Amino acid sequence: MERQEGKDFIRQIIERDLASGKHKTVQTRFPPEPNGYLHIGHAKAVVLNFEIAKEYGGKCNLRFDDTDPRKEKMEYVEAIQEDIRWLGYDWEDRLYFTSDYFDQLYEWAVELIKKGKAYVCDIPQEEFNKNYRGTTYEKGKPSPYRNRSVEENLELFERMRRGEFEEGEKVLRAKIDMAHPNILMRDPVIYRILKVPHFRTGNKWCIYPMYDFSHPLSDSIEKITHSLCTLEFEYHRPLYDWFVEQLGIHHPQQIEFSRLNLAYTVMSKRKLLSLVEEGIVKGWDDPRLPTLRGMRRRGFTPKAIREFCKKVGVSKRENIIDPALLEHCVREDLNEWAPRRMAVLRPLKVVLVNYPEGKEEWLEAENLPGKPEGGLRKVPFSRELYIEQEDFQEVPEKGFYRLAPGRTVKLRYAYYITCEEVVKDEKGNIQELRCRYSKELPEGVSKKEAKSILHWVSIPHAVKAEVRLYDKLFLVENPDELEDYRQALNPNSLVVIPEAFLEPNFQDAKVGDHYQFERLGYFVVDPDSTPEKLVLNRTVTLKDSWAKAKRKALSTG
Ligand code: ATP
Ligand code: MG
Repeated sequence: MERQEGKDFIRQIIERDLASGKHKTVQTRFPPEPNGYLHIGHAKAVVLNFEIAKEYGGKCNLRFDDTDPRKEKMEYVEAIQEDIRWLGYDWEDRLYFTSDYFDQLYEWAVELIKKGKAYVCDIPQEEFNKNYRGTTYEKGKPSPYRNRSVEENLELFERMRRGEFEEGEKVLRAKIDMAHPNILMRDPVIYRILKVPHFRTGNKWCIYPMYDFSHPLSDSIEKITHSLCTLEFEYHRPLYDWFVEQLGIHHPQQIEFSRLNLAYTVMSKRKLLSLVEEGIVKGWDDPRLPTLRGMRRRGFTPKAIREFCKKVGVSKRENIIDPALLEHCVREDLNEWAPRRMAVLRPLKVVLVNYPEGKEEWLEAENLPGKPEGGLRKVPFSRELYIEQEDFQEVPEKGFYRLAPGRTVKLRYAYYITCEEVVKDEKGNIQELRCRYSKELPEGVSKKEAKSILHWVSIPHAVKAEVRLYDKLFLVENPDELEDYRQALNPNSLVVIPEAFLEPNFQDAKVGDHYQFERLGYFVVDPDSTPEKLVLNRTVTLKDSWAKAKRKALSTG
């Protein structure tokens, strides 16, 4: 999985081109369509394009590929820029829009017509695909409009531009080869009529270029050297090359790599949109979504996401990545610097029978254990504490070493406690534990017997907070395989704890601040927080199933 040794195939191509003198520098681009928010798959393309440019002393452009005005919006343009900056990348002054090239693209289309390489076709697209284009096994047959004269094509194309025809009435096609083994080369559409105003060019245009035409030409205008795209464009490459060759302009090299797929989630814009619109999640930044906004709100860090994208590497093979790898990268980052705190999510009251009423002590705790530079904080201790319900079993099952009647455990940064009595209400529910505290191990108890260390919070000092726990959004690895991906939704993908109890060291907590709650995981302050009430999201638990699986693989094989 980690491709540390050796260069991947993209870098090999680039180094070959630099060594041979084909290119003196590297120029890449990230070309999002502003019709949705960026997700982890886009992050892979962002990281790849910006990192490659950086590695070879080149530049990476940000180009909005805004050729379909029906779903594109300025709102997305702004959000995408914000997300790329947040990821840690900067396109400096190289922000471009395909719509800036509309005049040039139109001129090139006219040039193709003049060269006899494009024609206006009146066959509706559906009918063309059905009756003319052919199949993999069957050659296509020419459109009856294929041999229109250059003059007629020029006139019709100009009239298309002026809005004299309705949508679908006419298209401009490249005149390539109706018998080409690659179906995409059978006279593809290069311009279509869309009577929709564009968010940047307004009503100036009512014909818009198709991706296969605008993309290579935009790359060419920007003098892109290596145009990195996802694998499904491999079949489009002959077409990419055809356009730049016919026009005799700068020829970028298209290189394809496999898409990033993440297990237990969906990534298509359409599906993400329906999750948001149907209210299955709370918005584009819902912490359960693989969008950059969602991951950011969840508490995933830019460094962790960059690291994940690098570890995944590039390949020519489609695969589904286990989110455990992403979570592993998140832990690796947060472990370094997220200050430790104690919090109790599901409280069980403990009364220390031999600790004086009204007394309090402020005990020292490290913010980053083992790292003195993290500093110390003071944590209050008193007669009444909360521990986690999970850390007590009245009748301990096999393998449970934490608190139970008669047992002794250590409280983190504090004392030993020994459980003397379990107090229950009339229904038999546990109300509280009565324990005895001691600075040293009680007599007759071995260190081994009291080896558990529990986190705790002093009740009179506790700060209340809402805590949101997240899990996979889907229960199956690949929801895309299902007829309706909604069938596989995880009903427990969000669990809200309305009242958790925190140690009081949250005075300066700001939205986006990260903490490790000892033994519980990493948490981040959510934007729903108010001055009265903190809201925290659990980013990840501490259990690293990725590292564990890797250790297991190493030891067995
Ligand atoms: P659409 O279906 O709308 O084209 P898209 O996911 O391809 O959706 P774009 O905005 O066109 O969205 O993507 C911008 C860039 O991100 C493209 O270069 C695309 O190849 C790349 N990209 C998109 N999804 C992934 C993915 N899952 N893995 C890697 N790269 C991706
Ligand atoms: Mg796309």
